[in-house]
Amino acid sequence: MIRIGNGYDLHRLVEGRKLILGGVEIDHHLGLLGHSDADVLTHAIMDALLGALSLGDIGHYFPPTDPQWAGSDSMKLLAQVHQLILDRGWIIGNIDNVIVAERPKLKPYLPAMIDTLAQKLAISPDRISIKATTNEKLGPVGREEAICVHTVILLFCQDQ
Ligand code: MG
Repeated sequence: MIRIGNGYDLHRLVEGRKLILGGVEIDHHLGLLGHSDADVLTHAIMDALLGALSLGDIGHYFPPTDPQWAGSDSMKLLAQVHQLILDRGWIIGNIDNVIVAERPKLKPYLPAMIDTLAQKLAISPDRISIKATTNEKLGPVGREEAICVHTVILLFCQDQ
């Protein structure tokens, strides 16, 4: 038995914040704004995991109004969401991601993001794909006001 999940997230780019994607800190003069560390890639992955099993979204588990999640390391939140999946007998088949960012160039960082996520999720790195593209200078992402991520995840049931 298999399930598929779709995740999407967008965060604003601002001065004075770190840029963290997939648990990897990226050297850039702007960072993502958010209640947690605003790791938009990890958030999209969490939403895809939850979506695959119809478990709601990350806002339900980690409400931005709750001070206990302020400045959270999104990789820790990912571990919690992953545990919900494992507890129900499901494991990750593969994860495919598209990061849409005008700048900086993310290609040099993609292997580190894949390794970090693979380690956290205890899966082989070849089960994780991360692509980076620009928005051709169009819209808020193209104007470097935001970064967004699209994610698709396949889960399968260990027992069947
Ligand atoms: Mg988010």
